[in-house]
Amino acid sequence: MSNEPIIRIEKANKWYGQFQVLTDVDLEVKAGERIVICGPSGSGKSTLIRCINHLEKVEKGRIAVDGIELTGHERKNVDAVRREVGMVFQQFNLFPHLTVLQNCTLSPMHSRGVPREAAEATAMKYLQRVRIPEQANKYPSQLSGGQQQRVAIARALCMNPKIMLFDEPTSALDPEMVNEVLDTMIGLAEDGMTMLCVTHEMGFARRVADRVIFMADGRVLEMAPPDQFFGNPQHPKLKAFLGQIL
Ligand code: ADP
Ligand code: MG
Repeated sequence: MSNEPIIRIEKANKWYGQFQVLTDVDLEVKAGERIVICGPSGSGKSTLIRCINHLEKVEKGRIAVDGIELTGHERKNVDAVRREVGMVFQQFNLFPHLTVLQNCTLSPMHSRGVPREAAEATAMKYLQRVRIPEQANKYPSQLSGGQQQRVAIARALCMNPKIMLFDEPTSALDPEMVNEVLDTMIGLAEDGMTMLCVTHEMGFARRVADRVIFMADGRVLEMAPPDQFFGNPQHPKLKAFLGQIL
């Protein structure tokens, strides 16, 4: 097995106009690792993970995913990386006019050329896995928020990603639905998926994270295994942050 990290971010810097949103971010993630990213609102967490599938691009520094360089912004490299990376957003982003099953089969059929029957079989497999196969023919608006988010996870899995990015996947949910989504994510982690999760669910972080990252003002201020991160935080800003959320 290669020791080459599946995600390598070196000195990533990014600006929105005059505003520097990422400053010298370094991060290496090995295949199978689970990383949780937390930090105050506006600290650049979403921007950082969106750079990994090139929804945003860094102006300075280097990002490579599974050995594929994103830095030159070459279209074929961007496409190749996106084939390996699934993403789940806070707001589910399901297609409202398509059924659950159609949401799950659209990209495999239209961007990968998978035949309908095979795409539907795969979709049903992942809908089983997120425990809502019985919702396959419903529309997103007929589902609860927790169910919609589980569909979004199933839809991402249908593309057979090597890496899953989660951007505050439970923040838009009513409290009673948070656990059903976290349980799905825990299952994925137990199956060995490489995961980067922006979340403030610290119970989840303690349970599944190999490393927890704290970002503030566009910088990674702390990165440690959960025991150390929560038990012995170093940076004053992390101490203050944990004081507010725990
Ligand atoms: P977080 O996810 O940690 O809340 P974001 O990465 O969303 O942080 O945003 C970091 C900062 O960059 C915020 O101040 C936000 O207002 C700003 N920002 C985010 N996206 C854009 C954009 N497309 N254009 C300009 N500023 C942006
Ligand atoms: Mg965000």
